[in-house]
Amino acid sequence: MHVVYLEPLPPIVEEIVRGCVPAGCSLRVRRADESPLAIVGDAEYFIVAGTKVTAELIAAAPRLKLIQHQGVGYDNIDVAAAKRAGVAVALAPEGSIVPVAEHTILLILSLYRHLAEAQHALREGRWLRWELRPISYDLQGKVLGIIGMGRIGREVAQRAHAFGCHILYTDIVPAPPALEARFEARRVPLETLLREADIVTLHVPLQDDTRHMIGARELGLMKPTALLINAARGGIVDEAALYKALTSGQIAGAGLDVFAQEPPGKDLPFPHLTNVVATPHIAAGTRDAFLTKMQAVFANIQRVEAGEPPLNQV
Ligand code: NAD
Repeated sequence: MHVVYLEPLPPIVEEIVRGCVPAGCSLRVRRADESPLAIVGDAEYFIVAGTKVTAELIAAAPRLKLIQHQGVGYDNIDVAAAKRAGVAVALAPEGSIVPVAEHTILLILSLYRHLAEAQHALREGRWLRWELRPISYDLQGKVLGIIGMGRIGREVAQRAHAFGCHILYTDIVPAPPALEARFEARRVPLETLLREADIVTLHVPLQDDTRHMIGARELGLMKPTALLINAARGGIVDEAALYKALTSGQIAGAGLDVFAQEPPGKDLPFPHLTNVVATPHIAAGTRDAFLTKMQAVFANIQRVEAGEPPLNQV
């Protein structure tokens, strides 16, 4: 089994991957200065996160059997080209779901409690014991609007319900009634959710019908006290409209783990706004999650090598 890992990894992360490689498997990890095209000639398996898997890259690997995404957001993979080439595409939901839900809660609480500003001030010797009080909030009792009640949306609902939030959601597919009952979650149209939610959190995939799903019109429907959380994909939000909404007071704040362009470069305006908490696409990025994913990824590769269909095939 010849596996090519398409993401350049720091040595300390590569060590974790190598610790999961099964017997009989050779692993080639791309270096940052290498083009993916230059190293896939012998590849039978790709492991990929955000690197673009184009028709050209698939064609450059004639022995390829499986494109194994190490997470769930596969908008970087040309699935149609893979299908034409007879190459399966599989996801690894194992590990990604819980950390993204936890990160979503982290972004909400950080914004409600001005965590970054409080620590920054303390570093400078300023003690904001009273100043932050009028603009800090409890999560309990707030209306959380979940856009996309899939694997991650449900884990967010579970956590928010435990915090005492009221849950609204919108999804093209209704959640099972038992799940709605468990989290006291009500399915509503997108517009109702935007108008009523104190916090709007995005958990849909990036695809044609979700690109710029949140733009000027949608931001205009939100409460001026509302927060927008995006730990899904940057392209779901019109970033220019979001910047305007955040700087004009149209909405109160945003928690952003993902951006239209990644890495975004130093001109990204969001980390400079005091009403934004921004992180570098690390929602699923815990050591725990990574180990779980790598074990699942190599187990799936072994399945395909044994002639079985992969689990979690797209
Ligand atoms: P999922 O497929 O289980 O859930 C997505 C939900 O969105 C489904 O219930 C689906 O019916 C719904 N949906 C699809 N199109 C819709 C539309 N137009 N309107 C309303 N609902 C719609 O996916 P998941 O595992 O919950 O992951 C969601 C997304 O989170 C992924 O696609 C990925 O982009 C992102 N993600 C981000 C990170 C990160 O590190 N920040 C990690 C993992 C996943």
